[in-house]
Amino acid sequence: MTRKYLMVGNWKMNQTLSEIDTFFKTLNEVGVKYSCDMKIGIAPQAMHLSTCLNKIGTTDIVIGSQTCSEYEGGAYTGELAPKALKELGCGFTLIGHSERRTIYGETDKEINAKTANALSSDLDVILCIGETLEEREAGKTIEVVMSQLEGALTKGEKAIEFTGNQLTIAYEPVWAIGTGKTASPEQAEEVHAEIRKFLKATYGDAGQDIFILYGGSVKPANVKELLAQPNIDGGLVGGASLEAESFAALCNATK
Ligand code: PEP
Repeated sequence: MTRKYLMVGNWKMNQTLSEIDTFFKTLNEVGVKYSCDMKIGIAPQAMHLSTCLNKIGTTDIVIGSQTCSEYEGGAYTGELAPKALKELGCGFTLIGHSERRTIYGETDKEINAKTANALSSDLDVILCIGETLEEREAGKTIEVVMSQLEGALTKGEKAIEFTGNQLTIAYEPVWAIGTGKTASPEQAEEVHAEIRKFLKATYGDAGQDIFILYGGSVKPANVKELLAQPNIDGGLVGGASLEAESFAALCNATK
């Protein structure tokens, strides 16, 4: 088994240039213990990708985008081409974040096409899935999560091909994102174990090595017990990734 840990900050529509400057200076002062057991990613707003790529210097941090286009290039105003993101130096893109699904109406069809397009441009994909509170209360969590996995990976129009760790899954219960409510480690593990079963059934041995991140109000106070679960391989973190001190604490907790 080659799985290690991955901690990814999703900055959403936050962080100005001066805040980014402070973030990286403070991160450097606080100190992240970079090791080959831990991978770290940050997804800033698109206009700050180059700045962040310059700021990471010789650290092991990988910079990625928060979404990308389903198209290769052309007349798609406002969109981000995976090929151009890759050339810029980005290592990954988030796809299907619940805010993209609910606020911008992204469908499984688009998520499947974006995933295929990013992977074919050699950009790693962090595919986000998760149920709403209503769906959880109706006992539909696993059904919803499986249907999102199938929609993106196995039942979509586009074939999804990847090798190694090019694909990561982020389970993010929508009711826990930005709300301060975290799924208990047991609630999260229950879903992660089902996701792992799906990945192994679909991809065989390779499915065992796909990272499954948990997202939803991860913070320094709860990260260790989440990471202690067998199928939780790291976190996708919004709020607690904005301050260098708490992001460093999360990254160092993976050791
Ligand atoms: C997210 O945006 O993916 C997220 C999990 O946010 P937060 O950590 O703030 O809940």
